[in-house]
Amino acid sequence: MIPFPIGETSPVEHPGPLPEAADVVVVGAGVAGVCSALFLARQGLRVVLVEKGRLAGEQSSRNWGWIRQQGRDPDELPIMVEARRLWQELAQQSGEDFGLVEGGVTYLAESAKDMADFEAWLPHARANDVDSHLMSPEEVRRMIPEMAKGYHGALRTPSDMRAEPWLAVPALARLAAREGVTVVETCAARALEISAGRVAGVVTEQGTVRADQVLVTGGAWSSLFLRAHGVALPQLSVRATAAATERLPQVHEGGAAEDGVAFRRRQDGGYTLAAGGYHDLFIGPDAFRNLIRYLPVLGEHPFKTRYHVAAPKGYPDAWGTPRRWAADEVSPFERIRVLNPAPSRALARKFTARFAALFPEFGEIRLRALWAGMIDMMPDVVPVLGPAEAVPGLWIGTGLSGHGFGIGPGVGRVLADMIAGNAAGHEVARFRLSRFTDGTRIRPGPAL
Ligand SMILES: Cc1cc2nc3c(=O)[nH]c(=O)nc-3n(C[C@H](O)[C@H](O)[C@H](O)COP(=O)(O)OP(=O)(O)OC[C@H]3O[C@@H](n4cnc5c(N)ncnc54)[C@H](O)[C@@H]3O)c2cc1C
Repeated sequence: MIPFPIGETSPVEHPGPLPEAADVVVVGAGVAGVCSALFLARQGLRVVLVEKGRLAGEQSSRNWGWIRQQGRDPDELPIMVEARRLWQELAQQSGEDFGLVEGGVTYLAESAKDMADFEAWLPHARANDVDSHLMSPEEVRRMIPEMAKGYHGALRTPSDMRAEPWLAVPALARLAAREGVTVVETCAARALEISAGRVAGVVTEQGTVRADQVLVTGGAWSSLFLRAHGVALPQLSVRATAAATERLPQVHEGGAAEDGVAFRRRQDGGYTLAAGGYHDLFIGPDAFRNLIRYLPVLGEHPFKTRYHVAAPKGYPDAWGTPRRWAADEVSPFERIRVLNPAPSRALARKFTARFAALFPEFGEIRLRALWAGMIDMMPDVVPVLGPAEAVPGLWIGTGLSGHGFGIGPGVGRVLADMIAGNAAGHEVARFRLSRFTDGTRIRPGPAL
C-alpha cells in the first residue's frame, strides 16, 4: 500500500537527538524546509531541521504531485525553471525513486475565453525558454482519444513533470541528512530565543538550539509562529480535497485539468483526482482580519470557495487557538502534530463522477484513498521569501499558495543562498514580506 498521505501513524524516521547549537535552525519539514536545509548544508553551514509532527506530513505529502512551469506567475517562473532542473539532479543524487516522470501538464479549455487567457500567458513561457504551446481541439482529441468530451483546445507544457510527493520529500530529507543536516521529527519549535534584539536560537519542546539564524518554513502554521514575535504575515489557509483511484488503464502520462476535475497518472497505475480551485475557507481571526486583502483573488472564482464560520478546534486560525504562550508550556504546534483535515466527500463525489463521465470505458471509479490538506495562501498567490526585517536573523519561506511542491527545490536553493549572504540568483523583490506594508499595490499572480 502506498503510504499517502503521511500522518501521525507513519513511523518516525528522524528521532534526533537535538543538537545544542547550529548555524541555522529551519522550522518545519515540508518540501520548503527540507530543500532549504539541504542547500544550506551545501553552503557549509551546520543545519538543524525541526518538525513538530512527521516529515512531509502536511501539504508536502498531500499534494497532487504536479511539477508545473505552466501558468506560473512571471516572477516565479525563472525559479520554477531552475526547480525543474533541480528535481532531476536531486533524484539522481538521492539514488531513490521519486516517481519523477516528464509527462507534461495540459489545461483543457472550456471556452474561447480560456484559450485567450492561455495565449496571453504564452509570452512568459517564451521569455524563459519553456516549451508551452496551444493545442487545437483536434490535437487534444488525438492526445487523449479515450476522453468523451471535446474542448476548445488546450495549453500544454510537455517538459512539466510529476513525482510522488510521499516518496520524493522523505527521500530528499534522507539526502539532506546524508549531507549533514540534523533532522528531528516530533520536535515543535515553540518560540524564538531573542537576545539583544536579534535571533539567538529556538526553544523547542525538546530543548533550546542556539543559532544566529532561523528560517520559518511552517506552511499553514507560519503566521501563528511569526505573530507571537510581532511579525504580521497576512496568510490564511484553505482546505483542498484530493483522491487516489485504484489501478486503471493509462490514457495519459501526465497531468490534465478542466473545470470539473484535474487528474494525473500515478506511478502505481492509478490517478490522483481533485477539482482545481475548489476549496473551503474556515473563518478565524486571521482570515477575518485579512479577508479584504484576498477579495481580488477570491473574486476571480467566487463560486469555488465555500465559507465556514469556524475552523476545527486547534487549527492554526481557529477562534480558540491561543495566540500567545510561554516557551516552557505546550504550544499550539504540539497540540496538532499533523494537520489532517477531513476531506469534503461531497466534492470528491462530484469530481469522481466527472472523471467517470470523461472516461466511460473505465466503468465505476473506485477510490483507494481520499484526503485533504490545508493550503497556505498569500493575498497575491506568490510566496514570502526573505528576511523578516523587524527581527534580525529571522527568515521566512512560506505562503507557497497551492503550488509549492514543484517549486520547492528552487525555493530552497534561493533561500539558502540569501541566508548564506550570496546573491539569490533571480529577481526576488516581488517576494519580500514588506510588500504588504510599504504601499505596494498587491498584484495577484495568474489564476490559470
Ligand atoms: C491537495 C493539495 C494539492 C496540491 N497540489 C500541488 C501540486 O500538484 N503541485 C504543487 O506544486 N503544489 C501543490 N500543492 C501545494 C504544495 O503541497 C504546498 O505549496 C507545499 O507542499 C508547501 O510546502 P511547505 O514546506 O511550505 O509546507 P508544508 O508541507 O505544509 O510543511 C510545513 C511543515 O512545518 C511543520 N511545522 C509548522 N509549524 C511548526 C513548528 N512550530 N515547529 C515544527 N514544525 C512546524 C508542519 O508540521 C509541516 O510539516 C497542493 C497542496 C494541497 C493541499
